[in-house]
Amino acid sequence: MIQNIKGMPDILADETPIWRFVEDTLRSILETYAYEEIRTPIMEETSLFVRTVGETSDIVGKEMYSFIDQGETNITLRPEGTAPVMRAYLQHHLGQQSSFSKLYYIGPMFRRERPQKGRLRQFHQIGAEAIGSSDPWVDVEMIAVLMEICQRFKLPELRLEINSLGDAQTRTNFREVLKKYFQKHASKLSDGEKVRLEKNPLRLLDSKNPDLATIIQDAPNILEHLTPDSKKHFDQVLNGLNAAGIPYVVNNRIVRGLDYYCHTAFEIMAGNLGSQNSVGGGGRYDTLSKDLGDKEIPAIGFAMGLERVILSIEERLKTELTRKKRIEIIALDEKARELAFTTAQKLRSELNDKMTIDLQFDTKNMKKALQLADKNKADFVCIIGEDELKNKKLTIKDLHKREQESISADGIVKYVKEKL
Ligand code: ATP
Ligand code: MG
Repeated sequence: MIQNIKGMPDILADETPIWRFVEDTLRSILETYAYEEIRTPIMEETSLFVRTVGETSDIVGKEMYSFIDQGETNITLRPEGTAPVMRAYLQHHLGQQSSFSKLYYIGPMFRRERPQKGRLRQFHQIGAEAIGSSDPWVDVEMIAVLMEICQRFKLPELRLEINSLGDAQTRTNFREVLKKYFQKHASKLSDGEKVRLEKNPLRLLDSKNPDLATIIQDAPNILEHLTPDSKKHFDQVLNGLNAAGIPYVVNNRIVRGLDYYCHTAFEIMAGNLGSQNSVGGGGRYDTLSKDLGDKEIPAIGFAMGLERVILSIEERLKTELTRKKRIEIIALDEKARELAFTTAQKLRSELNDKMTIDLQFDTKNMKKALQLADKNKADFVCIIGEDELKNKKLTIKDLHKREQESISADGIVKYVKEKL
């Protein structure tokens, strides 16, 4: 049998209600904060990610699903959402329509990582992007909405870590400082890390190589190298967080896995997720538009993984999610099938999506039909057999109250509406 691709799971019908609940809640929170949805394609030209996410990042270096299509275009399944949103923003001149845009996206992302709990090759992200302002209060609001999302889902033991990557000048200076520092430890670096040391030494702070753990611990602190403007921005963000009552921990090791970040970088961790405990994160990316050949447009965003949210809440929510009431229409006789079908259709059109109306097929006998209704967690069954047909009546059973009534074929809509 052909199986699904490793790390790209099916989401089956017993899980989709919780997915929809999570998606609906996320949309509603973001729309309350005045974000509007944008949908970009799941494939882009590879150069979009190489130029923005960066060649030295893990994503571009080893995790992208890229291929050459029949037209010889180098295409990549999107590994993240920010670069595509910025591409669309620039391409459609959204900045000309208004100087400040708040956009969100939701959908699958693709990274060829080692699959494990909370880490997949096709996973889903929701992300928000606020484009066109460098106001530190935008940073505060961005973090506030991500925190609100985590709190709304009651994610346990939330921890917000924040850092500043400063402006371009800060990073140019700091790269030299880091280079000098890591060069002293060059013997401990792998070949890949030596390349990073030359091309982008900030990346080394992100390294999971255990040999580097103590070296990274003692590495210079970027916050001590911020330019005055960068320091001012960071202080304003922290003051804003204080004023908003959002607790945080400053962690100068947060560099994030994408090259385009500057100034504010943040990450939110939750308690019950094991080692894959980062639920979401983000930061400023004031130069991303420039990487794409346009002018510099200040912007900030976050992305959050839906699988990790669902892992964290599914046990609790299994019992809480409400479902629509359900009726099963059962024809016990070949001749009753037409009436069963029209009755189902009448209910579907009159009840305006307020109820699930299931017409049973291949009915063998009453016992089997009721077993199926039970398995389907039906609230009511409507039975049409020979007697019912003769008397133009339907038999309705309320499966909770264990009551049974005989009603006229026309009376079913009224009966069911009263029960809703
Ligand atoms: P991690 O440190 O866990 O690898 P990341 O820094 O690569 O995360 P981002 O690229 O910032 O993550 O993506 C934001 C969020 O998307 C993460 O916090 C996580 O919830 C989710 N995420 C990232 N990669 C995966 C994946 N392979 N499978 C499932 N969720 C993921
Ligand atoms: Mg990662």
